[in-house]
Amino acid sequence: MSYLDRAKQLFEEARDLRRQIHQNPEIGFELPETMGLIQRKLEEHNIASSQLGDTYALVGTLGDSGKGKTLLLRADMDGIPMKEEADCEFASKNGNSHLCGHDLHATSLLVALIMLKEDEEKLQGQIKFLFQPAEETLNGGKLMLEKGILDDPKPDAGMALHMLPNGQKPGILIPKEETLASALNFKIEIIGKGAHGAMPYNGIDPVFVASQIINCANGILARELPSNKGASLSMGYINAPGGAINIIPPRAYIEGTSRSLYAESAEHVGQRLPEIVEHIGKAFRAETKYEAVANVPALMNTAGMSELVKEAAEEVLGTDYVVEYTGPMLASEDYAHIANKLPESCYFFVSCPLPDEAGDLYALHNPKVMFNEEALIYGPATMAQAAINWLKNNC
Ligand SMILES: [Zn+2]
Ligand SMILES: [Zn+2]
Repeated sequence: MSYLDRAKQLFEEARDLRRQIHQNPEIGFELPETMGLIQRKLEEHNIASSQLGDTYALVGTLGDSGKGKTLLLRADMDGIPMKEEADCEFASKNGNSHLCGHDLHATSLLVALIMLKEDEEKLQGQIKFLFQPAEETLNGGKLMLEKGILDDPKPDAGMALHMLPNGQKPGILIPKEETLASALNFKIEIIGKGAHGAMPYNGIDPVFVASQIINCANGILARELPSNKGASLSMGYINAPGGAINIIPPRAYIEGTSRSLYAESAEHVGQRLPEIVEHIGKAFRAETKYEAVANVPALMNTAGMSELVKEAAEEVLGTDYVVEYTGPMLASEDYAHIANKLPESCYFFVSCPLPDEAGDLYALHNPKVMFNEEALIYGPATMAQAAINWLKNNC
């Protein structure tokens, strides 16, 4: 039986699990209920798993390392701190939500593992799996590395997927090489000296310094990066508590993010931004503090593995769904922490459009986003087929 047909048989079980996770989202690193639920499901299908160190991450293996190489299959399972507004009977019961589809990712990996477990004797090598927390913080993958996800056994390649609810048609979209952007999320504090607005010479104005930092930091992009190796820089938060029409406040705060598809540009911004902050602060007598709260590299696929996944998707899905190469997207993904350490990797999108009653499609992180649950069939079928093919080709 093909993995597409087997995934169809498993659909109701998968959908029920997905809805259970969807109704009870947990966020960040603390995912005890979600992890427990997935672990029990794995057990029902005779798949042993264990926690990775003291984290709410699940790891385990299938197959036999003596027969070949080790392939890592990874899913995230955290929600986001945002209220769901979609009109569906299994909407989130708490203030958090699964508007990034990680409930579908965890369920898809589970379905793929069930099918690969049933074919365990055919595996020409070993599958290592990871269900990880805190992708949304962009720091979960980093913690997985620190806790040894790449040790014992060391994976030779990796694979992961992400839902794409505003894709054109249901199917699989594969970036060939450049896949997702880097992300540098930062916080800046400017410490000045409060004063009366009429007598600024008695103080050090942190609002003025903040405005200079924002202007000058954008000069990094405009004057220091080649135009075909660009980056973005957005400062989406600025606050100067205690300030008023005629009051210069003592402190100002800026938060923002910089993204790029190019490692050298991301590195350059990461090095120059704190320099600009420090030196502009000094130029106007303010003290400054800079903190990078997350710093994840751009995600790259390796061309050979992208081709393998595309062929596997075409093989298993036939003409029922679209299978295409796609260009990079400017979102970021903390799987890059792990993928960048592997010789080969492929991260692909599962296009799963489901319009609402008005016919509107919403993107990830939109409070009204809905996902076509049929993705729980063609996503896992592709992952399982690609996994078994990769092991066969590399043994
Ligand atoms: Zn997200
Ligand atoms: Zn996501």
